[in-house]
Amino acid sequence: MLGGASKAFFSFLAQNGVLKKLASRYGMRSSGNVVRRFIPGETVEDAIRAARVLEAHGLTETFDHLGESVTSLDEAGAATRDYVDVVNAIIESGVERNISVKLTQLGLDVDRASAVDHLRRILELAEPAGFFVRVDMESSRYTEVTLEIFETLWQQEYRQIGVVLQSDLFRSEHDLQRINALGARIRLVKGAYREPRSVAYQRKADVDAAYARMLKALLVGGTYPAIATHDPAMIELARQWAAERGVAPDRFEFQMLYGIRRDLQARLVADGYRVRVYVPFGREWFPYFMRRLGERPANVAFVVRGITGERG
Ligand SMILES: Cc1cc2nc3c(=O)[nH]c(=O)nc-3n(C[C@H](O)[C@H](O)[C@H](O)COP(=O)(O)OP(=O)(O)OC[C@H]3O[C@@H](n4cnc5c(N)ncnc54)[C@H](O)[C@@H]3O)c2cc1C
Repeated sequence: MLGGASKAFFSFLAQNGVLKKLASRYGMRSSGNVVRRFIPGETVEDAIRAARVLEAHGLTETFDHLGESVTSLDEAGAATRDYVDVVNAIIESGVERNISVKLTQLGLDVDRASAVDHLRRILELAEPAGFFVRVDMESSRYTEVTLEIFETLWQQEYRQIGVVLQSDLFRSEHDLQRINALGARIRLVKGAYREPRSVAYQRKADVDAAYARMLKALLVGGTYPAIATHDPAMIELARQWAAERGVAPDRFEFQMLYGIRRDLQARLVADGYRVRVYVPFGREWFPYFMRRLGERPANVAFVVRGITGERG
């Protein structure tokens, strides 16, 4: 995790509409493009190809059709139809059926009821086909509404759905109890968004300490939790805590992002743990890519090297 200033800078870039449009128009171009280290491509076929490679190495995946913060119902409807196509393509391909979606991509900023309808439409197709659908968590502006929508769908008997909690938010330990009480599946992350000090820990040590507490609570009292981190210390803690408490390796999974700490992903699989890789794809790759750069200075160096290499 980077210092606040860098995270804020990349967060600012991630939200920049002009840059976003330029990036989508420019596309990823060549297969050697540095973006492809983190995002296998713009099409669902690119993502499925990447998933096949992961599965051949004993990993599983969740697909994320990139996109967020649409500003009209037309766009939200189009994003929903895209997701329906993605679900159908995954069914057709025979790879594992697991997707991640963002509510702002389905129109949450425009109209809450429509966003819920859109999500329901995806679930109506995906659940009977054996998919698991994870509702990603966005910035703290959306935490409460996301959890409320999740709870509503849960009450409507959708069961193949899960949510995400971010350890950097003060409220998350309470939310963990709230979601655990439902018996729903939680993905635990540290949090990718730059948050104000009124709602979130600002020091990495505090975010990590909260992550450790939540991880322990989830392993013992959660329903098939996903420990989503690349942090070797947290992964070691999860392994130790699970072993001490007699939590078998098939009662939880680790999750990591595509292209990040592939060595660690492989080692965990070799040690008998379940590892799911988050596979993002699509033309709207810019904000996702900026957040990954903001997390780690070495990624910026990697990109600069890649760009320099391309020119040379
Ligand atoms: C499967 C998955 C799903 C996620 N879903 C969400 C979500 O819905 N909402 C949300 O807010 N956040 C989400 N995140 C992002 C998360 O909140 C963090 O921003 C991100 O995982 C970095 O934190 P970390 O736990 O890996 O630990 P950090 O403390 O940031 O990093 C620990 C170590 O991991 C490695 N590392 C971390 N990030 C990178 C990187 N970008 N590039 C290279 N190495 C890196 C480095 O070795 C670093 O030292 C998700 C993360 C994963 C893995």
